[in-house]
This record gives sequence, structure tokens and C-alpha cells, in this order.
Amino acid sequence: MYEGEPHPNCIGCNARAQCTIHFVPQKYLKGIGKTEYCWKEVNMGPGCFTCNSILESIRGEDVKKLLCYDRLLEVTKLIAPERYNLMIE
Ligand SMILES: [Zn+2]
Repeated sequence: MYEGEPHPNCIGCNARAQCTIHFVPQKYLKGIGKTEYCWKEVNMGPGCFTCNSILESIRGEDVKKLLCYDRLLEVTKLIAPERYNLMIE
């Protein structure tokens, strides 16, 4: 998935990535019965722990500061329209 990039940067803040983050959290996907998206590339990216926790709580202001905010909206709209509606309220 990231060949040639042994040290990818976080898609949220451009710091060194520490983990894989999910635009729509796995816990949320379980709740709506769409666990297949836990492993789909469209919902994943390299990230840091800070951005990972920001993505789990979309109601804060921090989420809007993420570099990947546009993609977050797009992916959320595609996978979890109910969650997307909460984000754009
Ligand atoms: Zn980050």
C-alpha cells in the first residue's frame, strides 16, 4: 500500500505516522453494520495517535483543522451518510 514510503506522514497533520487511521472509526462501522469498511483502503490512511482520536470525535473543532478534512467529508458521505449529516450541521 505504501511501497517506497517507509515513513509515511500523517494525513491529518503531516507529522510522522504512527498508526493507521480510519476516516469512519471501526467502532462506528460496527454500530451501523458496515464492518467491511474497516479494511477498505478508501477508509484508511497513515496517521498519528492524535489525529486518530480527533477522528473518533467529529463534533469537536479540531476535526476541521485536519489536513485531510475534505477527504474525511467525502469518505464519510460515501460510507456513513448519517454521520456526514452530523458533521455538516
Ligand atoms: Zn496527525
